Amino acid sequence: MDVLRFQKANCKDCYKCIRRCAVKAIAMRDHHTEVIDEDCVLCGRCVLACPQYANQARWDIQPVRQLLQSDKPVYAMVAPSFSFQYGPDEFGPLRRQLMTLGFADAFESAEGACLVKTQYENLVAQGDRDVILSSCCPAVVLLIERHFPSLVPLLAPLLSPMQAEAKLLRRRFGPDAAIVYIGSCIAAKNECDQTPGLTDYALTYDELNALFVSNKLPVDLHGAQCSPEPRRRSRSFPLPGGVIGCMNKQEDYSYLSVDGLENCIAALNEIKAGRLHHCFIELRSCTGSCAGGPKMSADARNRLEGRIRIAHTADTLEDFPPQPTLPLERTFQPRYAQAKMPTEEEIQDILRKLGKNSPADELNCGTCGYSTCREKAIAIFQGKADITMCLPYMKKRAESLSDKIISNSPNAILAVDSALRIKLANRALADILGLPEDTVFTGRQVSDLMDDFEFITAFSSGEHTKARKTYLEQYDKYVEQVFISDENNNLVICLMKDITQAEKTRLSLQKTKSEAIEITDQIIAKQMRIVHEIASLLGETAAETKVALTQLKNTVAMEEEKLP
Ligand code: SF4
Ligand code: SF4
Ligand code: SF4
Repeated sequence: MDVLRFQKANCKDCYKCIRRCAVKAIAMRDHHTEVIDEDCVLCGRCVLACPQYANQARWDIQPVRQLLQSDKPVYAMVAPSFSFQYGPDEFGPLRRQLMTLGFADAFESAEGACLVKTQYENLVAQGDRDVILSSCCPAVVLLIERHFPSLVPLLAPLLSPMQAEAKLLRRRFGPDAAIVYIGSCIAAKNECDQTPGLTDYALTYDELNALFVSNKLPVDLHGAQCSPEPRRRSRSFPLPGGVIGCMNKQEDYSYLSVDGLENCIAALNEIKAGRLHHCFIELRSCTGSCAGGPKMSADARNRLEGRIRIAHTADTLEDFPPQPTLPLERTFQPRYAQAKMPTEEEIQDILRKLGKNSPADELNCGTCGYSTCREKAIAIFQGKADITMCLPYMKKRAESLSDKIISNSPNAILAVDSALRIKLANRALADILGLPEDTVFTGRQVSDLMDDFEFITAFSSGEHTKARKTYLEQYDKYVEQVFISDENNNLVICLMKDITQAEKTRLSLQKTKSEAIEITDQIIAKQMRIVHEIASLLGETAAETKVALTQLKNTVAMEEEKLP
C-alpha cells in the first residue's frame, strides 16, 4: 500500500496516532512513526489525530491534472456526501463546476450504491447465508481480510459502490475514458490501486478543493443556481445505517448497522464467537459512516446537520433508474500476517525492564499509545515500540537520576518558594554550613539560614544570577552562589559551592605578599636613606677639594706674574 505518508521530521513523539489506531498498525522507530502496511486498514484516524500533520494521505491531484489537460475524456463520480461538503442538495452546481475544471461529465456514485444494495437484497433473499457482512467500506474489507481472516467468507462478494459506478461508466464510455472518484475516504485510494482498469484515481474532497482553488473556482457552492432534482434513496449510503436504510428487507432476517472502527471490531469478535445469526450487518469504519469520513472538511465531519442534509436528499422510496445487469462479483482474500508472539516469560522479562515488577506496577495508563502495559510489552517484542515510550518508566528513571544527582552533589542545592520557605535542600548544604547531617531544612524560612536578599531579588527580577562570591559570617564560610529563577514552579534555586579552603589560602597568600611588600618597602627606604647620606658626604668633600685647588691655582698664577 502506498497511501499513507508519514513525515519523519514533523513527528514529535506524542503517540497520539498510536492511541487512535485501533489495530496498532503504527511503529515508532528512531522517534518517528512508520505505518505497518500489512496491519493498516486505512481508516485515516492517524491522519486526523496528528497535531503536527506528520501523517498524510497521498495526494493524487498532479496525475489528475495531467489527465484533465490530456485529450482523454475524464469522468468524475462523486460520493453522495457531496451535498454536505459543497452546499446545495442538488448535484447540478457541483457537476457544472467539475465540467468547468475540465471533466467531460460528472456522476453520482450513489448510482453504483443503488446497484450494490440491490445485489445485497438478492444475497439475503437467496437465504443460504447465515450472516452477511457488507463490503461497501474498503477499510472494513481490509479490517476483515487482515485481522479477522476467518470471517472473510461472510463478506458480501460484491464490488463497492465506487467500483460498481466505475463499471457502469466504463460500459457507457468505454475503456479509453479516465474515471476519477471523489469522496471523503482515504481507503478508497487503495481500493482504486487494487483494481486497475476500473477507477483511475480516487481524490478526496481536500484534493478537489485544491484543484478548485488553483483554478479560481469556489469551494462553497451554497447559493449556486440549481434546478430541482429528484431525491434518490441510495443517497443515504454515507449515513450510519444508510445501507440497510435503503434496502428492501426480508421479514425473517435481522438488519444491523455498526459504525466506528472499535465498534466494528467488537461486532466482528461477537460474530467470530458465533453469537450472531441470520442477519445482514452494515459495517462502516468511520464514526458517522462516510459522512464522518477522514476527508470530509473538518467543520463538516460528524455534524448532525450534515446527516440531516444527506438524509433529506435520500428521503424517498424512489431510486436511480434500473440499469442493465452488470457483473458486480468480487472475491476477498485472507491477508493475515501473524506477527511473532512472545512467550509469557519474554513478556515478563520486558515488563521487568519497564520497571513493572508486579501487577500493581502495571498502570495501563495508555500514554504510550497501547491500552495496557502487557500490550505495550508485546509491541516492544515485535519491534513496533520501544521501552522509552513508557512515560511512568521514563519519569521514574528521570526522578531517580535527578535524585541521585541532587543527593550526591558536592555542592549545596537549595530550592525556596515565593514565601521564602525551603522546599528542597540536599545533604551537601548541611556539610557546607557545618550543621549536623540530620538537620531538617524543608519548611524553614531561608532567612533562618542566611540572608534572603538574593532570593528576593531573583524572585522579583525573574532572572538568573552569575556565580558570585559570598562570605557567610555565621558559619565562617566562603561560598560561590548562583541563583536560578524557576518561574514555572515558582521557585528560586540556589546552587552553592564551598570555596572556603581556596578563599582562605588566597587570603593567607595575599597577607604574606602584603607583609613581604611592606618589608621590602622598609628595606628600600632604609637603603635610600644610606645612599642619601653617602651622597651628601661625597658632595661636601668634593666642594672642599674644589675650594682648595682653586686657591692653589690662584696662588700659582700670582707667583708667575711676579717673575721677571
Ligand atoms: S500523532 Fe503520531 S506522527 Fe503525529 S506527532 Fe504524534 S507520534 Fe508523531
Ligand atoms: S490509517 Fe488507521 S489503521 Fe492505518 S495506521 Fe492510521 S490509524 Fe492505523
Ligand atoms: S466509512 Fe466511508 S469514508 Fe470511512 S473508511 Fe469506510 S468507506 Fe471510507
